[in-house]
Amino acid sequence: TLFTDFGLAQPILKALSAEGYEKPTPIQAQTIPYAMEGRDVCGIAQTGTGKTAAFALPILHRLNANPKPRKPKSPRVLVLSPTRELSGQIADSFKAYGRNLRLSTEVVFGGVTISRQEKALAQGVDVLVATPGRLIDLVDRRALSLRDIEILVLDEADQMLDLGFIHALKRIVTLLPKDRQSLFFSATMPKTISTLADSFLRDPAHVAV
Ligand code: AMP
Repeated sequence: TLFTDFGLAQPILKALSAEGYEKPTPIQAQTIPYAMEGRDVCGIAQTGTGKTAAFALPILHRLNANPKPRKPKSPRVLVLSPTRELSGQIADSFKAYGRNLRLSTEVVFGGVTISRQEKALAQGVDVLVATPGRLIDLVDRRALSLRDIEILVLDEADQMLDLGFIHALKRIVTLLPKDRQSLFFSATMPKTISTLADSFLRDPAHVAV
């Protein structure tokens, strides 16, 4: 499989060359075709497998193919991740792969001043990467609306449950449009995680590496 097999927009392929990526990793080869079709995906994959690009590339392609004016406080994509470190890495990946597109990515996490995050959201962002607790705080402060979310990503779901984010996750999902694409990734898939996945996903394609 080659990156050119997926039908990704030319500016994205150019960014991948700039990153020095020659060919898709196995999780990318399995996930990208489904995600490009708009299907939900349930994936078992660890960090280091190229999982981030597996969801970021099709998301960037779909946003770019269906451009919309940026709306203050209303991102189009929400990526939930368990830690500030991982959230920062995911946001950096979206920025790198999307460097040739007119799309903006922001990251929000706890432990830092919230007012700067409120200002960034007020400017309008396309892709928001967030830890669940800070996301809820921003929603409660009306700094953010989730009603225009088209695509949800849940990354490292098992770690999110370990960190006690289950109630935050469940509340966040009630705020999202029912008609959306959802991509769900976990390093492990015990019963508790697959039950959670079932509550997020519609007829998902299953992938594993
Ligand atoms: P991740 O699993 O998303 O954290 O990615 C692990 C590392 O692999 C990151 O440093 C990526 O930049 C890199 N990477 C992801 N996809 C590819 C690829 N297709 N070719 C080469 N490196 C990649």
